Amino acid sequence: MQSQAHDMGQHVAACRDVPIDVLCALPISGEESEVVVAATRHALSAHGHSETVEVTTWIRQNLKDEITV
Ligand SMILES: [Zn+2]
Repeated sequence: MQSQAHDMGQHVAACRDVPIDVLCALPISGEESEVVVAATRHALSAHGHSETVEVTTWIRQNLKDEITV
């Protein structure tokens, strides 16, 4: 367990955590900016969402630090 700055390292967004996408379990991992872009694209292409501020804001707020063992 380490508490380091959040601007570096891997982050994870899990589609299943999105209230509107509860049936999807796709995990997306990478750097924060990459995860936001990839998750937004996924929401658009796989779930038919629009690229709105709400979607990207939600993704940013729900990024998790990737658990590395
Ligand atoms: Zn999904």
